[in-house]
Amino acid sequence: MSDSDLRSLALPHLARLHAYTPGLQPGESGWVKLNTNECPYSPSSRVAEAIRREVGEDGASLRLYPNPTSQPLRSAVARLHGLNDDQVCIGNGSDDILNLIVRVFCSGAAPLGQTSPSYSLYPVLVEIQDGRLETVPFDRTMHLPIERITASSAPAFILTTPNAPTGVGFPNADLERILAGYRGVLVADEAYAPFAAENALPLLARHPRLLVVRTLSKAYALAGMRVGYALGHPVLIDLLDRVRDSYNVNRLSQVAAIAALQDVPYYDGVIARVKATRDAFLADLGNRGWFTYPSETNFIFTEPRTARGDFGPAVARSLYDFLCANKVLVRYFPSHALTASFLRISVGTDAEMGVLNRTIEAWLKAAAPNA
Ligand SMILES: *Cc1c(COP(=O)(O)O)cnc(C)c1O
Repeated sequence: MSDSDLRSLALPHLARLHAYTPGLQPGESGWVKLNTNECPYSPSSRVAEAIRREVGEDGASLRLYPNPTSQPLRSAVARLHGLNDDQVCIGNGSDDILNLIVRVFCSGAAPLGQTSPSYSLYPVLVEIQDGRLETVPFDRTMHLPIERITASSAPAFILTTPNAPTGVGFPNADLERILAGYRGVLVADEAYAPFAAENALPLLARHPRLLVVRTLSKAYALAGMRVGYALGHPVLIDLLDRVRDSYNVNRLSQVAAIAALQDVPYYDGVIARVKATRDAFLADLGNRGWFTYPSETNFIFTEPRTARGDFGPAVARSLYDFLCANKVLVRYFPSHALTASFLRISVGTDAEMGVLNRTIEAWLKAAAPNA
């Protein structure tokens, strides 16, 4: 049997699937890794303690399935946000939650709404489901296209807020204007909310058609544990639970997440440090004269300029390649006109940002890249 015969046994839409491209995770050490918006600091020390306690001397607890609904974690999340347990669904990362949302609301007949540019996983989840995507474009201002979203007939519309890869946050007043007119479920993907001025949680009590999605991968330094959650009306949460894998979050991740959520003072400190480093780096870029969107996240989206003042896709690519050759990893999104002249740089430690700044200086001094 040939490879193509074997492939032809699969559902035909999978032949057209554009799989998600994750940021590089280099195997060896020595990289300044500023490409996937992980936290540059360790999680609370209570996390490793909780995992050690759960594993015990001999790992006996690992014989047993985890709590199928992540019930103790659900309660911890509900308490943290002043909600009831039935307003919380726990996922294997927020990517899992986003996948549940697509399963519930999207098909060939029922499009999923999104803005562009935004998180590039949404179209992949829709393609896997053989669903339809409805895209509302941003323009270069990155102001929220409120009227176009409000007019959408999609049963669910995902808004990344603050947005990725731009870092731009949207005020609750804008979200309320959408909620006042839009008839579907507005999903606020708030992966970066802990770094933002505002978040949509205060709107939940008044808006049954709002779902808020959060993750412990960014602000809580737990990307490796894979925990995210959805907050919303019990009817929406019940729909997500119906299509969820029965044991979607493993034992160690459940106890790790509870321990992290309980250490509020530690994470207040981590978030304050990341924001201070971000704002210092934003000021550096301003001094260089590089256009940068205001960031309400733990990353910066900036348009590099050469010493001559040139900018554009070739300049962005040139800096990306130079940084990579010097073991500084950032993210480049060449395939969209509004992102191709920019680089997305995660906020690292002050030391890492020092290496980054010195490498940028070296690039500026190197033979002026042709743009
Ligand atoms: C990082 C990120 C996620 C994924 O988070 P996980 O919980 O690690 O799956 C979801 N949405 C956006 C916008 C992100 O940037």
